[in-house]
Amino acid sequence: MCRGGELFNVLDLGMHPPSDAFLREDQLLEQEAYYPLKLISCDRCGLLQIDYIVHPEILYQRDYPYESSTTKTGREHYYSMAADIVEGFSIPKGSLSVDIGSNVGVLCAGFKKLGFKALGVDPSNTAAKKAIDNGIETIVDFFNEFTADKVLGQYGAAKVITATNVFAHIDELDSTVRGMKKLLAKDGVIAIEAPYAVDLINNLEYDTIYHEHICYLSVKPMRSYVKRFGLELFDVKKVSIHGGSLRYYIGHEGSHSLKKSIKDYISEEKKQGLYSKAKLRNFALKVEKHKMALVSLIMDLKKRGKKIVGITAPAKGNTLLNYCNLSRQYIDFLTEKTQIKIGLYSPGMHIPIYSDEHLFKKKPDYALILAWNFADEIMKNLHKFKKGGGKFIIPIPTPKII
Ligand SMILES: [Zn+2]
Repeated sequence: MCRGGELFNVLDLGMHPPSDAFLREDQLLEQEAYYPLKLISCDRCGLLQIDYIVHPEILYQRDYPYESSTTKTGREHYYSMAADIVEGFSIPKGSLSVDIGSNVGVLCAGFKKLGFKALGVDPSNTAAKKAIDNGIETIVDFFNEFTADKVLGQYGAAKVITATNVFAHIDELDSTVRGMKKLLAKDGVIAIEAPYAVDLINNLEYDTIYHEHICYLSVKPMRSYVKRFGLELFDVKKVSIHGGSLRYYIGHEGSHSLKKSIKDYISEEKKQGLYSKAKLRNFALKVEKHKMALVSLIMDLKKRGKKIVGITAPAKGNTLLNYCNLSRQYIDFLTEKTQIKIGLYSPGMHIPIYSDEHLFKKKPDYALILAWNFADEIMKNLHKFKKGGGKFIIPIPTPKII
């Protein structure tokens, strides 16, 4: 982001296949592509990032299986985000909102419900098709300055531009931000949501590190980055989705009053040690200890003859399974609500994925919740499993049995 070249090695997770590269049975004997997965930090601006970029066409355009609407928590979050923005900035009905990385169109649907012209932009064919089928206008492409020109010519300037859990996925970020600047109406608002680096470090959310997440944002580097494009970060707000995310409000320079939150967050980030090498080193040590704790818990259960499965197969689950080497020897199968993952195998560990029904049928003793950020909702949905004597394991931040 700052073009600084002095980089500090924080944590080496080893070689990993892309976390969303689920496999069909006929692909199991083929050689999988593995790439380095290492967290580094920039000495100059403090941005946490990974040091190897897998080409986005490898990561996203092949049947990308992430669907943002599959959880109720997620859907409610995006609807309330749309309402927050519309009310908070008194944006008139009929205005254009553009969602970058719109996936199946959940956030667009939120804006549409509030009377907006909602447009999505997403490079994934499968996700975009679902959005279009649901009546959400979607441009199937990566968002950059050229896509911005196209949107501007066809729809005019946007009063709202949103990007949730996508900013950290983009390698050619400069072109994306230039596109945002071009497309944004004079008094318009950009709202970017991304997992917060402070939570990653403090809550030991190291499984959220995977090739799709190129950087792990915080306020200090973000503020100086957008400035380079004539934009201004004027407010930030904490939101609870995905284990703690931050919403960044950005406008054209001088177009919105600068809130105190910016300074407060930056001084808190410094206090928390986000830009301190000693603190980052300590984080890496804790990650190694966490791996040992989780593996010994699982091995102990296996020794006692227990059957263990995994619930949900999110991208982050694959970082955890691959880093901890939890193969089929330990985890019999995974279960999922997302139809497109059922019948496939997890990348790296090759654990088969079934529907949640399989859990009730096979009645394992323990179920490891990989999407721990939705643990409450998952445990509620699967209460039948607990009633039948099953126990849940929540892996992060400290493995615990429920
Ligand atoms: Zn930097």
